[in-house]
Amino acid sequence: MPSRYTIQIDNIIKRLQENGSNVNEDLIRKAYEFAFEAHKNVFRRSGKPYIEHPVMVSEILSELNVDDITIAAALLHDVVEDTDISGLEIRENFGETIYQIVDGVTKIDEINFGTLEEKQAENFRKLIISMIKDIRVIIIKFADRLHNMRTIKFMSVEKQKKIAKETLEIYAPLAYRLGMYKIKSELEDLSFELLEPENFKMIKNKIELSYDKMESVINKIQPLIISKLSSQNIESTVNGRIKHFYSIFKKLKTRKSSFEEIMDIIAIRIIIPKEEDCYKVLSIVHEMFSPVHKMFHDYIAAPKENGYQSLHTKVIFENKIIEIQIRSTKMHEIAECGLAAHWKYKRTDMENDHHALDKYIIRLRGILQESFESKDPKEFLEELKINLISGEIFVFTPKKDLITLPVGSTPVDFAYKIHENIGNHCIAAKVSGQIIPLYTPLENGNVVEIITSNKFTPTYNWLKFAKSPRARTSIKHFLKKIEFNKTLKLGRETFYNELEKYKIKPDRDIIRQTSSAFGYKTIEEFYNSIGNGVIKPIHFMRKISSFKKEGMFEKLIHKIRLKSRDKREIFNTSVENAKMINADCCHPLPGDSIVGEIVDEMIIIHIANCSKIGAVEPQNLININWETEKYENYDVKFKVAAEDRQQLLLDMIKALNSLNINLSHLVIKVEDSIAVAEFIAKVKNLNHFIKLRKKLLGIKSVLSVERFLE
Ligand code: MN
Repeated sequence: MPSRYTIQIDNIIKRLQENGSNVNEDLIRKAYEFAFEAHKNVFRRSGKPYIEHPVMVSEILSELNVDDITIAAALLHDVVEDTDISGLEIRENFGETIYQIVDGVTKIDEINFGTLEEKQAENFRKLIISMIKDIRVIIIKFADRLHNMRTIKFMSVEKQKKIAKETLEIYAPLAYRLGMYKIKSELEDLSFELLEPENFKMIKNKIELSYDKMESVINKIQPLIISKLSSQNIESTVNGRIKHFYSIFKKLKTRKSSFEEIMDIIAIRIIIPKEEDCYKVLSIVHEMFSPVHKMFHDYIAAPKENGYQSLHTKVIFENKIIEIQIRSTKMHEIAECGLAAHWKYKRTDMENDHHALDKYIIRLRGILQESFESKDPKEFLEELKINLISGEIFVFTPKKDLITLPVGSTPVDFAYKIHENIGNHCIAAKVSGQIIPLYTPLENGNVVEIITSNKFTPTYNWLKFAKSPRARTSIKHFLKKIEFNKTLKLGRETFYNELEKYKIKPDRDIIRQTSSAFGYKTIEEFYNSIGNGVIKPIHFMRKISSFKKEGMFEKLIHKIRLKSRDKREIFNTSVENAKMINADCCHPLPGDSIVGEIVDEMIIIHIANCSKIGAVEPQNLININWETEKYENYDVKFKVAAEDRQQLLLDMIKALNSLNINLSHLVIKVEDSIAVAEFIAKVKNLNHFIKLRKKLLGIKSVLSVERFLE
């Protein structure tokens, strides 16, 4: 056996055995030897051999009543991260469970907490919980962090502060939530000392000044309680302690009181074997010392959300207020060790007391708030996760900033969370080196890089897979704006064209005057109303003629009447012989639902929801349907985006050929390794195009195929 740490390993094993469990000694020794070999010749900043760290972490854990597997995994916890030994070797030598635990610890170590803004701390806590598959992972992580904090002085000051902040904001609250009070307190005090050295010193000095006084109080009260209880046949352990520094500091801060005013710095703990004696002890204590009014808390009947149980009371002793906590041995261990105590009670309770463990779990599930039947820690953990973090996933930017999104979110949601502009132009994403289409759901822990192109903007299709409210609102907003701009443009064109017909110069005055005559505050709104058909040319021409009666405008009314009568005549004549033309704006295909626009003696066929339809006067629109069995080819205009690669174009052409589709127009542009191809091709009908679209989407590296409906 190598080196001096074997004695410590012996002690750890002994401690585990004293806790009453079956210990696989060989497993622990084998893990130690393996770790020793792996870390050989590596030293910590302190100059100590590296192996000291995992050994010390295991020692911390052995005080928490953990099992042999936890100890073995703790000994191996830095092997994969810091040496060239692979996870596979751990699996071969120590089996799946230990491998999974070591792997879990390594993954948590890889999280970059960045600059850690306070509002992100809760997300990081949730992220950690979401990542652990075995609760022993987080217990080891706490012990690891505790030992690192104890030996942190060898780091640079800057690094010390960063680690301390992380500890205080992420690990300590997490330890508290999982009921590990002892670890939480020490983590807090160590961080507090580094982050607020002045305040730490202030509290430490004050405590030291009155330390003797406080100790003498403890020494006096201890035997009084023990002998009184033993006269009532209650065996007890009584210890006194001065509360930890950080909790005193928090009290000073929240109560805004001075140190001298805070008198409950001393806490006396009475620990008794049986839970049912707790209330009896309480009444004895209240007989011995006068209780402080309204300072009693029953955490047995109503446990704290992390499962903590005890009776708390405050009494007066020698003119001082002292806090007294009464609890059973089991409550004490659970309070100190939290989830780690789980194993001990899991083992011993199975035979004699199922209820204690169940109750503990149910209490811990106070966080979870519903009934729970299983005793399996794995299921418990899953429940914990579901209730704590359900509905959220955690992903990262390439700079490792944490982004929280609803479950099922896609690169589109991610892009909008970063910036609206990135969302409006995203085209695909890169996740661990792979380019994925926008509709792919992201997974926990993904590092996501968004690829953008100025040629791309949101489509209605995005609303099918965008999950987050932010993305959905932005997409809708964008589409509305596009729509508004389109109608605005159309409205302006209509206005100008109409005026031109009557040889009226569309100068600023006329535009303003007409727009305000209709009650619009802005010209844009006026144009928009023309564009979407609310105001028809005949309406605004009438208005114009009403306030421009003199001179060249006199004939206007007559002309307008004449014109609309002409149109009606066209409408009334049969359209059977009219020439049908497919509109250039939307390129309708047989199968699309369509509408006809009468222009002179022709009928222009539009897709029913083409934006140009809004501006057509209703009497010029007719309902039409496609004739079946008419053999003809139609132009369809569409846009394909793909990750550029060799033979991409060839593959796309092949797809067209395989469906007998002729190409009439193609422009392809490559930007940032994304190719955007604009096609006009001849297809038979909508179905034909749908087949083509499917084929194109099946081509390697193709990201999207969108039809133009402009
Ligand atoms: Mn470590």
